[in-house]
Amino acid sequence: NLPTVAIIGRPNVGKSTLFNRLVGKRLALVDDMPGVTRDRREGDASLLGLDFRIVDTAGFEEEDPESLPGRMRAQTEAAVAGADVALFMIDARAGVVPLDAEIARWLRSGATPVVLVANKAEGRAAEAGLIEAYELGFGEPVQMSAEHGEGLADLFQELLPHL
Ligand code: GDP
Ligand code: MG
Repeated sequence: NLPTVAIIGRPNVGKSTLFNRLVGKRLALVDDMPGVTRDRREGDASLLGLDFRIVDTAGFEEEDPESLPGRMRAQTEAAVAGADVALFMIDARAGVVPLDAEIARWLRSGATPVVLVANKAEGRAAEAGLIEAYELGFGEPVQMSAEHGEGLADLFQELLPHL
């Protein structure tokens, strides 16, 4: 019975890229088009010797449960509610956008602990977004680059107390 981490965040921030890196198999579909991950995908992840179940989520835009995006949102909400910790990912280059703030509000209303991750933090383009990230109310973000494999030790440190 492995502990579970659910990755949540708006489309295109790099959730599936991190999922793929931690699972080590290309289970999740990664694409430049926002919203390409249609289903919740799960895999067994390993991070510096820490083993856990990881869930990649998609969709948080639409509340109507009768619609496809609404069902995706319901899946995302269920995945987070059932997880030991939510890994809330934003794009450090883009900064905080309204959907990030909406997700943050929803996460604060729930009981699942949250680790905030600012992805795409390689290079200097990320600096402005990192400052904005504090506004989300989850403290200092873990800076990482899922694509380049940077920041994994910091991610490990933040996840460890919850797993
Ligand atoms: P998702 O929609 O949140 O699952 O995002 P994806 O994992 O599909 O990634 C969306 C895009 O961001 C892809 O083009 C990725 O290659 C790119 N991406 C992911 N992680 C990083 C990163 O650390 N740095 C940069 N520069 N691009 C990234
Ligand atoms: Mg995805």
